Amino acid sequence: MDKILVVEDEYAIRELIALNLTRAGYDVFRAPTAERALEIYEESPTDFQLALLDIMLPNMDGISLCKRLRSSNQNIGIILLTAKVQESDKIEGLSSGADDYMTKPFSINELLARVEAVLRRVRPSVGSEAVIHQGRFTLDNKARRVLKNNDTLDLTQVEYQIMEFFFKNPGTALNRETILNAVWGENYYGDVKIVDVNIRRLRMKVEDDPSKPTYIQTVWGYGYRWSAE
Ligand code: CA
Repeated sequence: MDKILVVEDEYAIRELIALNLTRAGYDVFRAPTAERALEIYEESPTDFQLALLDIMLPNMDGISLCKRLRSSNQNIGIILLTAKVQESDKIEGLSSGADDYMTKPFSINELLARVEAVLRRVRPSVGSEAVIHQGRFTLDNKARRVLKNNDTLDLTQVEYQIMEFFFKNPGTALNRETILNAVWGENYYGDVKIVDVNIRRLRMKVEDDPSKPTYIQTVWGYGYRWSAE
């Protein structure tokens, strides 16, 4: 059973989320603060598949908590819950290592769809053990990691999936919608801008000089092209 950590200081919202996730078959752990969430999480870090983090929390906020979780765990799925709608908050949230964000208020159907979509991405894919070499890069599907010059890149599961999609389509101009569908799924509710935010983060890890990307190239007015050579 997938374990989900729900961190929300407002009792009614926390219960609404927790009850619906429990009803959908998930094992839910509730925390009203980031501090309490860390206590619960640190008892068994590898057990959690997903964390839903409200951004506005007393004391430590959801962004800081997200960074803490992400720095210790590249595999956990993280969805931020925000009452704010400014684009800068979303981008800050995704830069902190979150996989997705939801703006409150949201419907239960949207919540369940997004939770399922993130869980699908963080679960290891089965049956595929291919190792693909392209230029200085190696994609190891079994270990779900990407190496550059034989050094493992520190990627989140979403970033790994983007790289996996690039490796399957080298030298091909891929538009944002195609990348979004391949990585986030066709039923993704959010904005296509999430692709750009993740690419920007990925370039920091993949490129020799992120300000002059040569591997993840921009195809103006269209999307991106992976060129490992
Ligand atoms: Ca709150």
